[in-house]
Amino acid sequence: MTASLLSEAATFSDSIVALRRAVHREPELGLHTPKTRDKIRTALAHLPITWAQGPSTTGLVGTLKGGAGPGRSVLLRGDTDALPMPEETGLDFASHVPGVMHACGHDTHVAMLAGAAQILAARANTLAGEVRFMFQPGEEGWHGARFMLEDGLLGGAGFDTALPDAAFALHIMPNAPHGLIAGRAGPLMAAADQLQITVTGRGGHASMPHDTMDPVPIACEIVSALQTMVARRFSVFDPVVVTIAKIEAGTAHNVIPDSARLTGTMRTLSAANRARLKAEIPRLASGIAAAHGLSAEVSILEGFPVTICDPSAVDFGESVARSIVGEAGFQRLADPIMGAEDFAYVLEKVAGAMFFLGVAHRGADWQHCCGIHSTKMLVDESVLPTGAAFLAGLAEQFLANGFG
Ligand SMILES: [Zn+2]
Repeated sequence: MTASLLSEAATFSDSIVALRRAVHREPELGLHTPKTRDKIRTALAHLPITWAQGPSTTGLVGTLKGGAGPGRSVLLRGDTDALPMPEETGLDFASHVPGVMHACGHDTHVAMLAGAAQILAARANTLAGEVRFMFQPGEEGWHGARFMLEDGLLGGAGFDTALPDAAFALHIMPNAPHGLIAGRAGPLMAAADQLQITVTGRGGHASMPHDTMDPVPIACEIVSALQTMVARRFSVFDPVVVTIAKIEAGTAHNVIPDSARLTGTMRTLSAANRARLKAEIPRLASGIAAAHGLSAEVSILEGFPVTICDPSAVDFGESVARSIVGEAGFQRLADPIMGAEDFAYVLEKVAGAMFFLGVAHRGADWQHCCGIHSTKMLVDESVLPTGAAFLAGLAEQFLANGFG
């Protein structure tokens, strides 16, 4: 049945590209992307989909009921928000909103998910069960998926519906080969938490450090010790990244400041390491500061959890992908990516997987294409119907056979 998905997707390619360009031209930030929501609703208004929105975001969940009776439920997710950055692509449908750009491809995710909705609606009478389309804002650090879960839009205990039986998402990659689908069982993307360490001493004249408690060398010692901690206290087989990306202290060449502040990120691939880092960093920082008679305070701002793909969902996705794009069209990723993704919240509750789709232009030197979050990021739109077909295939095959 999936053999025809690509040709069916091709019949929707004009509307997929049109929606992508409309969303691209008018990008929105954060948890509220109402113009994008309205474009989605308009594009899919003719389909027999019932829509729900919660109080916390403009996120939408549309439900398409199959005509072949009750059965499994499957969720497909596309994120809708853009990034606070200028666009320098020179495209004729480039962003009209100064300082805001769809540089993570969420415009294409919206369009591919809407394409999948059209494909699946066209064959709804053959489907048993239901497909839920999750259009989610606030992926770029806003915890949009968590808010939609808390609003009950995905169902679960205490809400009207049960959680879906499976969930899938697809993310484009401009610096990956044209049309290649890739995935990985287990950790796919890292947990990302923000770290801030404030070292407090006592300032004074830079020529008389013995009369002060200089926080600067202590802060530097902590930066180095964090790397030693990562290398010596954590297994290389469960990787951890700690990066201090910002150091702030002092005002002049001859003034020792009262305090110094370190800001950075912590990336982990397991809940165990994430919890351990949260415990070890304060111990390390305050221990080093105390050794010199100063104090250090650590605050950790929780980001997204680890994105973990269910192994049978990845096996299943691989077989669906190969049936659509051929044997060579799917690749297993050897390594996770240390970036983070808030679909992780969905995968904490629902078995499923996230996949990547290469959107470099055909024949392009893909390794040197501008990647996501680049002001010059480009997408070969001819790949988008393939993405829509893959999403539709995941839903159709899951409803028919589960993970198989
Ligand atoms: Zn993204």
